[in-house]
Amino acid sequence: MTIGRTHPLGRAEYARIPLYAPPGSAAAVDLSDNTNRWGSPPAATRALGGAATARYPDAYTRDLKQAVAEYLDVAPDMVVTGCGSDDVLDCAIRAFGEPGGRLAYHDPTFVMVPSFARANGMVPVPVPLTRALDLDAGGMLATAPRIAYVCSPNNPTGTPLSRATVETLCAAQDMLVLVDEAYAEFADASLVDLATSRSNVLVVRTMSKAFGLAGLRVGYGVGAPALVREVEKARGPFKVTAPSAAAAVAALREDVSWMRAHAALAVGARQELSGELARRGVSVLPSSANFVLAPLARAVAVAARMRELGVAVRAFAALPRVTAELEATQGQALRITVGPPDEMTAALAALDRAVSECA
Ligand SMILES: *Cc1c(COP(=O)(O)O)cnc(C)c1O
Repeated sequence: MTIGRTHPLGRAEYARIPLYAPPGSAAAVDLSDNTNRWGSPPAATRALGGAATARYPDAYTRDLKQAVAEYLDVAPDMVVTGCGSDDVLDCAIRAFGEPGGRLAYHDPTFVMVPSFARANGMVPVPVPLTRALDLDAGGMLATAPRIAYVCSPNNPTGTPLSRATVETLCAAQDMLVLVDEAYAEFADASLVDLATSRSNVLVVRTMSKAFGLAGLRVGYGVGAPALVREVEKARGPFKVTAPSAAAAVAALREDVSWMRAHAALAVGARQELSGELARRGVSVLPSSANFVLAPLARAVAVAARMRELGVAVRAFAALPRVTAELEATQGQALRITVGPPDEMTAALAALDRAVSECA
């Protein structure tokens, strides 16, 4: 991400917002963005073929809210949808963040969060994860935020936060807590119940990862009806296209077993990849997602060489040094999405070659 030239009429704070740019060109084996490497599910793909496009879609996607509600066993008026969960997060921040207020988030986490905060006039405040890679709830609360953002399992570490620390955070009534569960389907536990038992919690999820529909841009949030209504004011109508909504509904109604089977494949692939990396002396953080984070010296150079060899992975140049491993690599790490066996074989071959050449 680079901060480009700014327009003289642009808002001052936007000079500090980097324009997100996906790193590098296309790669034959792309393990850089945690999407579903096994593809998209069958009912969703069929639904795309027959979707009507001449009319506006339902303004707030009634059918999709209903399908999400059935999937998570919540009431439909507790669901807000959006153009990806990015959109839901952005709208929630816009709806609840007073300009000048603080948005606290644990560091490291999803790179878009500080940008969304600034774009909506808020001040992003990073609070390091603990050495156990858990939430420092006290540290977050001490910043007196208007909004707190947490992510479990967390991107890019892959590690889950403990329920107890998230509950401590949510117990503060005077702030909105955004719980990003983009990778919940790969994990054993979910925090969706916090959204039903509390009035200040929005749990945000996506169809982009386990459900294999990243190209359609569908995400959703679950929270108290009054909370969800505020987010919808910020969101506005017609944000999810009719074909995307139809495919997402089909996926939630008919493809859950496809999703579960492929999430299980991802978990198996994750364990295998972690073992292969360990055999090479590379330890990974204990992941509950469909990717692993491997602290690695010269990760940036290794990733650049891997890309030349046709395998894209995500390199981090300067993660906060919250564990001994990240300390040892000076914050450098590779994030590798898991996928089918042939892609894992290609990734390990490229890694071996890149590491030996970058030594
Ligand atoms: C991928 C990802 C998202 C974005 O999901 P979309 O629904 O595709 O916008 C949100 N949060 C985290 C932590 C992610 O890794």
